[in-house]
Amino acid sequence: MQPIAKFIAGLPKAELHVHLEGTLEAELKFELAARNAVDLPYADVEAMRASYVYHDLPSFLAIFYEGSFVLHQEADFRDLVYAYLKKVASQNVLYAEMFFDPQQHTDRGVPFATMIEGLTRGRLEAERDFGIRSQFILCFVRERSAQSAMAVFESALPYKHLIVGLGLDSDEKDNPPAKFAEIFRRGREEGFRLTMHCDVDQQNTHEHIRQAIEDIGVERIDHGANLLDRPELIAAAKERGLFFTVCPYANEMMRPGENQSIARGMLDLGLRLTLNSDDPAYMEGKYINENMLMAHELAGFGPEDFVTVSRNAFDAAWIDEDLRAELHGRLTAYAEAQLMVAR
Ligand SMILES: [Zn+2]
Repeated sequence: MQPIAKFIAGLPKAELHVHLEGTLEAELKFELAARNAVDLPYADVEAMRASYVYHDLPSFLAIFYEGSFVLHQEADFRDLVYAYLKKVASQNVLYAEMFFDPQQHTDRGVPFATMIEGLTRGRLEAERDFGIRSQFILCFVRERSAQSAMAVFESALPYKHLIVGLGLDSDEKDNPPAKFAEIFRRGREEGFRLTMHCDVDQQNTHEHIRQAIEDIGVERIDHGANLLDRPELIAAAKERGLFFTVCPYANEMMRPGENQSIARGMLDLGLRLTLNSDDPAYMEGKYINENMLMAHELAGFGPEDFVTVSRNAFDAAWIDEDLRAELHGRLTAYAEAQLMVAR
């Protein structure tokens, strides 16, 4: 293993931008399909993986949503989250905040309780077995109506102690943050933390970013690349101390060959950048370590940059101060030991 890959592998990390439905590996998908007697249109795992071909956000989403149809029972949701946390615990992720999209499941008749109870069981069992801490962020699917989102929000309220934040994802075209302003306002009142996707190079992206920051008052933006085009948005993000959850593989998909200009641009401007995996099962199995390695190979990120990224992620995490101090302590110890050796 090259030294930088070894450094990344050992680095204490947090992941803040990962969609649980996007961590469903083909093997588990086959297993769950058999368990629930769901027919998959693929002969085997290889054929399924080969079908993961997409060229933009809508074509990606079509493949992505097909996958979630195998999730039915509490045990399925438990297995999904447990598999992801087991995997990233092996990559030295100490803490994760994971998106889930209830509308993908409640629309198919899966009760909210089944989903959240299964997810919570998986989370707690992974903490018991691997020591990894984690929480959930409920994401609304933005191409569906505000009424549909509000219905999910209402059904989540009895479980709000199991959900740390609210997010917004999926197809951004004609679905601005303002469409969900009322839900996010109520969410804040109910104590949820707020984040929102502003995907790369979407229609009206600058206005969407402005709405997310100024009108909704999010604490983070997921992706948020196009903020770099506008000095006034950069200034607003800095003034508010916003964090950005950037995903190198997804960036490469949207802007091939641009040498991770997004991550590099944010880092150089002193914006509070974090690096994440997004939908690893649909992105050639690239989890957080592989995404960080992309930032090294394509944008020249070095050990000190990765320490900054990890520090930002621990600062961005929606956790109590005792856990934050513990995570920072482990990072500092690692950085001191490793960077001293390197010098
Ligand atoms: Zn995402």
